[in-house]
Amino acid sequence: MAETSDQRVSDQRSPRKRELGRGERILPGVFRLRLPLPWPGVPHCNAWAVAAGDGVVLFDTGMYQPGSFVDLERALAMCGLRVEDVRLVVCTHAHSDHYGQAATIVERAGCELWMHPNHAHMTQWAQDTDAAIARRLEVARQSGVPEEPLRRYAAERREHDSGIAAVIEPDRALLPGVTISTDLGIWTVHETPGHAPSHVCLFQPERRLLISGDHLLGRISLFFDYGYSPDPVGEFVDSLDVVERLGARLCLPGHGRTFADVHAHIEGNRKLVAERSERVLGAIAGEPRTAFEVVPEIYDDIPFTPATAAWLLTETLAFLLHLELTGRARRIVGEPERWAATGVVER
Ligand SMILES: [Zn+2]
Ligand SMILES: [Zn+2]
Repeated sequence: MAETSDQRVSDQRSPRKRELGRGERILPGVFRLRLPLPWPGVPHCNAWAVAAGDGVVLFDTGMYQPGSFVDLERALAMCGLRVEDVRLVVCTHAHSDHYGQAATIVERAGCELWMHPNHAHMTQWAQDTDAAIARRLEVARQSGVPEEPLRRYAAERREHDSGIAAVIEPDRALLPGVTISTDLGIWTVHETPGHAPSHVCLFQPERRLLISGDHLLGRISLFFDYGYSPDPVGEFVDSLDVVERLGARLCLPGHGRTFADVHAHIEGNRKLVAERSERVLGAIAGEPRTAFEVVPEIYDDIPFTPATAAWLLTETLAFLLHLELTGRARRIVGEPERWAATGVVER
């Protein structure tokens, strides 16, 4: 859901009482570790510990922030586990709330990290934040965002912690064909890009359990990493088909509670993507517009503030790109760039 670099509301830290890490057994040998996040509206993320021999495989890590390791230890202790029991760390994708503590855990437990190799969306940001911000500002400028909010955004982003303890490369590329052994049986790897280029889902076929990361969440909400793959929206829709074919019976998501109506959630996501696509198309059906001008018409329910701007603009750009690639919109090159529905005459 919320991201390394696009924490939609991260700049509005609320004064509410800080939550603590909590752990609970969901099924025999499956533990949900609920780890706090500093993002209002996204109060926590899940890591999943699955029994494996004399220890556990840990799927996702929680974000790295002050006190986050203690939260993880506390959540594990509630399940009778310790960090030293982790035999393998598997990340569903390289966002800070799913990968942020990987370096610390791997070092403490002396285990490996497995993750999909398309993690440049995170490593580039964490290793050269200034360059990543500069590129993002260029995209925003090109999209018609005025200079003043851009300057403010840049200053705020530079101050912001990445939520990642240290960037470490995976010991093994988490690709289809790789299997993860646990006491519940093996888990298979399914590439599900869209939310992030590095996203995978893990499936346990006999029990039909799906560790879905941020690809499928209990509360349907979209996010696309823009600029690291050709068509994030199209990739996300294809990834919904990938997961549907698995026939999962229970979903263990990256945020919120487990849910059983997996098919309904897949359909809900398809519907939301179709609605947003139509809305974006409607917004460029008259005068050609910049992405920045399109945003307020798509999200009339979400305020366009410095905290939400990057997320809303990114999503709108992802939809415009998808409409262009599917022949429904065209880009009018210029400074700034404008967009028009196919068939609209340029003036
Ligand atoms: Zn997340
Ligand atoms: Zn994510």
